[in-house]
Amino acid sequence: MTEHSNQLSNFHGGLKLSGHKTMSITSPISQAKIPAKVIIPLHQHIGDSGELLVKTGDKVLKGQPLTQPTSYVSAPVHASTSGTITEITEHKIPHPSGLSAACVVIETDGKDEWIELTPVKNYQQLDATDLRNIIRHAGIVGLGGAAFPTAVKLNPGPTHTIETVIFNGAECEPYITCDDMLMRERADEIISGIQISLHVLNSDNGIIAIESNKPEAIGALKQAIKKNNTTNIKVISIPALYPTGGEKQLIKVITGKEVPSNGLPADIGAVVQNVGTMAAIHQAIHFGKPLISRIVTITGKGVKKPQNLDTLIGTPMSELISQCGGYKENADHLVMGGPMMGFTLTTDQLPIIKGCNCLLVESSDDQQTQRRVMPCIRCGECARVCPATLLPQQLYWYASSKNFDKVQDYHLFDCIECGCCAYVCPSQIPLVQYYRFAKTEIWNLERDRQKSDHARIRHDFRQTRLEKEKQEREERLRKKKEMLAKKKQENPETADKDPKQAAIEAALARVKEKKEQAGINPKNVENLTEAQQKLIEEADSRRQQSKVE
Ligand code: SF4
Ligand code: SF4
Repeated sequence: MTEHSNQLSNFHGGLKLSGHKTMSITSPISQAKIPAKVIIPLHQHIGDSGELLVKTGDKVLKGQPLTQPTSYVSAPVHASTSGTITEITEHKIPHPSGLSAACVVIETDGKDEWIELTPVKNYQQLDATDLRNIIRHAGIVGLGGAAFPTAVKLNPGPTHTIETVIFNGAECEPYITCDDMLMRERADEIISGIQISLHVLNSDNGIIAIESNKPEAIGALKQAIKKNNTTNIKVISIPALYPTGGEKQLIKVITGKEVPSNGLPADIGAVVQNVGTMAAIHQAIHFGKPLISRIVTITGKGVKKPQNLDTLIGTPMSELISQCGGYKENADHLVMGGPMMGFTLTTDQLPIIKGCNCLLVESSDDQQTQRRVMPCIRCGECARVCPATLLPQQLYWYASSKNFDKVQDYHLFDCIECGCCAYVCPSQIPLVQYYRFAKTEIWNLERDRQKSDHARIRHDFRQTRLEKEKQEREERLRKKKEMLAKKKQENPETADKDPKQAAIEAALARVKEKKEQAGINPKNVENLTEAQQKLIEEADSRRQQSKVE
């Protein structure tokens, strides 16, 4: 990897937003209580669900795997504390659609008893594949919110040369402070995880990018670097501009390069990892601990004591709210994530998942600024702020008219759903909702197309098989006819007879011939009594009768 200069670039658009961050950083990270039960969704990441390893009634220990990965892009989930599995059932999960999904419900025993842990003594002696395997089986996924399996991201493949490894501490969305607090309080763990990641990626240097409005975090990481005599990791302060923490935007700021449309960071030699994920890697390698907890910011004008809680995965959200003093009277609705990219939840009876960085309780005061939607006035403000250099107005137009070909021509899938366009729209159009709708519809259509492609392939295959069977039958019939014709030629007398009947007649003739040759006559028929003679005659008569019939 080449040493990076401190020359920073800008990305297109973006917004300067009020942070609202101070309310949740007035106290250190607290440990969330162990709840009476944890609800652990089997699928909490991008990729395939794992295969279930447990059943109802099992006693489990903290860190025990509940699933194992079934494909390359998959991550297991683990028991986040010890207890007994009371149910494996469909339960509501935090998702914009309000979906339910398979979850393991554990009644906790309060002992918080770990499985036997196997830390790695010297990770530098392990090769990248072994380390990726440990990270994979520890269930580590990107903790910035995307929840993409980290082991996959740490394997850019032989066709990519990674020159820039960026560790994302930007945390640009208002209200969210979990990464900021983690960097302040657990800087050593982050540096340790970064060293492991650099070893896996075979890279010499890493860059930690942090927005300039987090001086304490910048100071803590610099101090940790100094304390550990680290020379290959650099902390860079970047301008506080939303959404600078977006993967593509951060790469542009640090390297000046654009990730191509529909491309990946690795295509331009870059990898971006969240700082929280680095702390999780440190725990997995140095302590053998899988990902069973994360820091969650509980904040907003509608909650009494905003703060950051180190939370067991599967803890019901209601328990965290209650640990933060409960809802204020003006609490209006609950959002998972921040105000720009998060989504509203219909209940707080949902479990914390790996990708949940923030619970935002918005108040009725926030609601007063709610939108009254007007027609688009073609002001172009949305395009001015779009960090993905898209044309949001056109995207809106084609998404709302369900012109899904055209909306893709305008690069819908490059939209990062940052919400900048909707934020500045004077007509208050909920633009991102239209983009999410269009994306979902296109995915559904694509799934249907794949299904009908499969059905067509199956139909074609069946037709081919039936045609082949028909040809084989016809060929057998042709051969039989040929054989019969040949026989007729050889023996015209028997050729027309039914072959079975001919065989019976031939057998009877053979028996008759043998009898005649041997001169066989009935035996023991001399000196019969009258009664015996009568029985023989009756039998003869029956035989004759049966022949007649
Ligand atoms: S900002 Fe709103 S009103 Fe202006 S062009 Fe974009 S969609 Fe239309
Ligand atoms: S939500 Fe999409 S279209 Fe709107 S500004 Fe962000 S990236 Fe651009």
